[in-house]
Amino acid sequence: MTDGARVATRSGVLPREAATHCPYCALQCGMVLRDAGDVVEVGARDFPTNRGGLCQKGWTAAELLDHPERLTTPLLRDRPGGELRPASWDEALDRVAAGLHTVRDRYGPDAVAVFGGGGLTNEKAYALGRFARVTLRTRHIDYNGRWCMSSAAAAGNRAFGVDRGLPFPLADLGRADTLLLVGANPAETMPPLMRHVADQRERGGRLIVIDPRATATARQADLHLQPLPGTDLAVANALLHIALTEGLVDRAYVAARTTGFDEVRRTVAGCWPAEAERLSGVPVADLEAAARALADADRAIILTARGAEQHAKGVDTVSAFINLALALGLPGRPGSGYGCLTGQGNGQGGREHGQKADQLPGYRRIDDPAARAHVAGVWGVDPATLPGPGVPAYQLLDSLGTPSGPRALLVFGSNPVVSAPRATRIESRLRDLDLLVVADLLRSETAELADVVLPVTQWAEEDGTMTNLEGRVLRRRAFRPPPAGVRTDLEILAALAARLTDGAPLPTDPRTVFEELRRASAGGPADYAGITWERIDADEGVFWPCPDEDGPDRPRLFADRFPTPDGRARFHPVTHRPAAEPVCADYPLHFTTGRVLAQYQSGTQTRRVAALRRAAPGGFVELHPDLAARLGVTDGTPVRVVSRRGELRAPARLSPAIRPDTVFAPFHWPGAARANSVTNDALDPVSGMPEFKICAVRVERA
Ligand code: SF4
Repeated sequence: MTDGARVATRSGVLPREAATHCPYCALQCGMVLRDAGDVVEVGARDFPTNRGGLCQKGWTAAELLDHPERLTTPLLRDRPGGELRPASWDEALDRVAAGLHTVRDRYGPDAVAVFGGGGLTNEKAYALGRFARVTLRTRHIDYNGRWCMSSAAAAGNRAFGVDRGLPFPLADLGRADTLLLVGANPAETMPPLMRHVADQRERGGRLIVIDPRATATARQADLHLQPLPGTDLAVANALLHIALTEGLVDRAYVAARTTGFDEVRRTVAGCWPAEAERLSGVPVADLEAAARALADADRAIILTARGAEQHAKGVDTVSAFINLALALGLPGRPGSGYGCLTGQGNGQGGREHGQKADQLPGYRRIDDPAARAHVAGVWGVDPATLPGPGVPAYQLLDSLGTPSGPRALLVFGSNPVVSAPRATRIESRLRDLDLLVVADLLRSETAELADVVLPVTQWAEEDGTMTNLEGRVLRRRAFRPPPAGVRTDLEILAALAARLTDGAPLPTDPRTVFEELRRASAGGPADYAGITWERIDADEGVFWPCPDEDGPDRPRLFADRFPTPDGRARFHPVTHRPAAEPVCADYPLHFTTGRVLAQYQSGTQTRRVAALRRAAPGGFVELHPDLAARLGVTDGTPVRVVSRRGELRAPARLSPAIRPDTVFAPFHWPGAARANSVTNDALDPVSGMPEFKICAVRVERA
């Protein structure tokens, strides 16, 4: 969208008005940016996900474009413990290249690691993977999306043969007669999504929410199941048990479209609802009501999010809900199915194109010889030179600076000092590195530890593509030039590659990178070969897989078959197991974390937006009034939440919305209020997801 008036910049000619998308979450709300003289105006756009709505974060996103804390020059630290000082780009890039050379020469290519982010565009995520594998020849690359959707991704892959968060358009929510949200709070995290839920409610649909807290979403539900954190799996198996005993399973669907049901049936036969009530606290009557509401509906949708997924048994928990969805015959029918609500802006695309430790572009596996041959062909290298799989994000960061771990780390679009579990330990690991390089637009807490900080463009200053929570590939459009002194991530990778190798130059133009990504993804599970920027513009996005430019895209998957070798979905028998860290006399309470409406992820950006800071100025600890009374704490009393790994300090916030045996803190703040000083680094054995959502703590007056 343009109004005809355009401005010339070093990037070319840019429009005075641009239709683009919010820089933050995976809803990727459509917005319009307008040049209003001194300010950039943000308008909401009638896009299929947000239908004209934005949340407070979206409305205020432009405030960061000219923020006084914006980085506009590289920063260098001359000696450990010294201050960061401004430097020229040549000096900064030469320092990075020399540091990488030294580490590689001394310790080998795997001594250099790369850490990406789920907010990077598809082009950046792709280029980062290629840079790691071809330029650096390291196996060590992973990204912060490992801590968001990896459990749902792994469960989706093993059940359906593909991981697309929503295998149907978001608008299908409005068509569901029953909607079950598990560990999801879109009323606070993605408010415009609730327009689709409102459609569903207006049609007489039922909303069921499973959440340990009576969140803004749960308060709107017809039925709120409030389990102990970490017991969702037991709840899911009990729901399937009820469906089996009451004859509610869709046996024709199970017979025609799935495999493995008998083993799940045998497993679930022993998952008595009374036992689920004992484990979770959810009354049997509520479990029965939920199971019947799902089974009686013509159309039903089950959605999971981080509350169910961020556990050391996250993959099995999601599998339990997928088992339930398959037994009820939901996937593949319009207005029905299972999906995961992806969190980060490009959480979907960011997990498809090669910044994961075990992955090549197109959601290919890096240990698959055919995949290696295909991608190596696109990159013009010998497949044998491509490294093998690395390790998941937490293991990677936890090995930094150790005798067997990387000695140098490049960070793009991530702030692990705030977002990593057991963050005090990860902060220490980062300090042990020989070289830490951070590319960011602001001085994040991780940038504060860096030897070199490289200032990068932000959303309204760059072209590219993002893939939203529906698997819809979108255009991000440059609207204004970046400040002088700022470079794009693609320009930084190309400049480093030029210093490190004498190979062909890396492209810096996002469209050129996207064209290469199309070729690299061709034939893979996430096939973008038929997606062009023109087609995205014409159709309000294109759903993958889309192998042919002239062929259709795929808004809905699984109508006829699942992309497994035999075309059938797979049941996986799973059973409840306790949290990695049980409560005890010294740590008698459960601790869980999450987000608030006015902040986003590690808060690097949103904590600097005045309106958002006013709305959510700092961390807090949510306590039930009964627990607070036992502790002698009132609203606003400073408290300490102490786990075996560390503590956080913040004011108490009393709320009957939380269980009396559980305390909650948001994870957006650094320093004393850092929730991840407390969280547990126990990992899911399949996905590598840390157990963010439950650990044992005690609470004291500070
Ligand atoms: S943060 Fe998410 S819900 Fe809010 S405006 Fe941006 S994309 Fe939409």
